[in-house]
Amino acid sequence: MEDLLIRRAHIRDGEPTQDILIENGVITRIENQIDLPDNPSIPVLDAKDCVVVPGLIESHIHPDKALLESRKPNVSGTLAEAIRNTGELKAQFTLDDVIDRAATVLQWASAKGTTILRAHPDVDPISKLLGAQGMLTLKESFRDIMDIEVVAFPQEGIIKSPGTYELLEEAMREGCTVVGGCPYNEASMDDSVRHIEMVFELAERFGAAVDMHVDFTDDTKDPRYMTTEVICEITQAHGMQGRVSLGHVTTLGSIEPDHPVFDQIAQAGISIVTLPATDLYLNGRRDTHNIRRGIAPVQTLLQHGINVVYSSNNIRNAFTPLGNADLILSGYLLAEVNHMGSAQFGLVMDMITTHAAQSLGRSANYGLRVGCPGDAVVLGSGRISDVIADQPLERTVVKNGRIVSQTMVRTESRALS
Ligand SMILES: [Zn+2]
Repeated sequence: MEDLLIRRAHIRDGEPTQDILIENGVITRIENQIDLPDNPSIPVLDAKDCVVVPGLIESHIHPDKALLESRKPNVSGTLAEAIRNTGELKAQFTLDDVIDRAATVLQWASAKGTTILRAHPDVDPISKLLGAQGMLTLKESFRDIMDIEVVAFPQEGIIKSPGTYELLEEAMREGCTVVGGCPYNEASMDDSVRHIEMVFELAERFGAAVDMHVDFTDDTKDPRYMTTEVICEITQAHGMQGRVSLGHVTTLGSIEPDHPVFDQIAQAGISIVTLPATDLYLNGRRDTHNIRRGIAPVQTLLQHGINVVYSSNNIRNAFTPLGNADLILSGYLLAEVNHMGSAQFGLVMDMITTHAAQSLGRSANYGLRVGCPGDAVVLGSGRISDVIADQPLERTVVKNGRIVSQTMVRTESRALS
């Protein structure tokens, strides 16, 4: 926990820059100009009128199975092959292997501006607790760089994969703080519903939040992929409003925008985490032309007052061959595929800051506000609404008042004569 004075920070478009004082890791003052004659040795970070936003939040990512693409690429590009290939590779995982790959991704994420990250390691009879243990180890070693939350995620199903429920319990006892789910990966709709019930029962026992992978297809033919209504009902029955996040939810993109499920999601206080890099890669695979996008309908969700977040999901594996844990780059993709114009570019930034904080239940203690942790990113852009278009390379990342990463760029340009 350190002291830092950030000068000339562009916090809001159309308003004068501010100085931000961080003392003992906490923001204590935000004013037009802060002079500290009694503390001349305080470290100063001059933002030079550039954008300063709260530390970015990567709310849904799988560092444990990142960087596997070169080991076994997904030839068909389907979800089925992604799960199958990754399952084969998981059988060969060691703890050191998981930690090495995951640590690389966490370092990338930090350099890009992420200061809070929710990891979803697989928990199943194939790799057992290796993913969760790897992430819990890194949670400790990265504690000065980013806050890491670890979800116990049953990628292979619970009923379909005997022994998983007991492993989830063990993962929660070892330090995971969120219960994950994967109801689409069960053998029948009845099993999918039972899966959801088991997730909520476990969350209730441990007083934990729920964060599930709900579905992953581009039509509504298979009811296992349309369980959001069931989850809304169970969320309200368990009094879990505001403590449930759902990832992917791509099937919602194939229903009419006046479908009652959108109001149900809003009433249940559920956050939707869209994961465009993966969903665009895996969905639309049966279309030979006019290929559908297969992503959650961001505009419809926003119109219904639902808290919408986006995140990276996978980095360079059979689910997602691209990625470098850069949320601002993912925002460019998100904006393009959801028909978001410049009037919504500021909203895109909200989705990886304040919206994501709400999804993680951190709103009360997050943001560039007095009393919040001194987490911030200085970006090489002049306006917040330009960041997604600018894709600034220059970024200075501050965690609890300490500069943890600084990317500088030097361009040498020679005009053609
Ligand atoms: Zn995921």
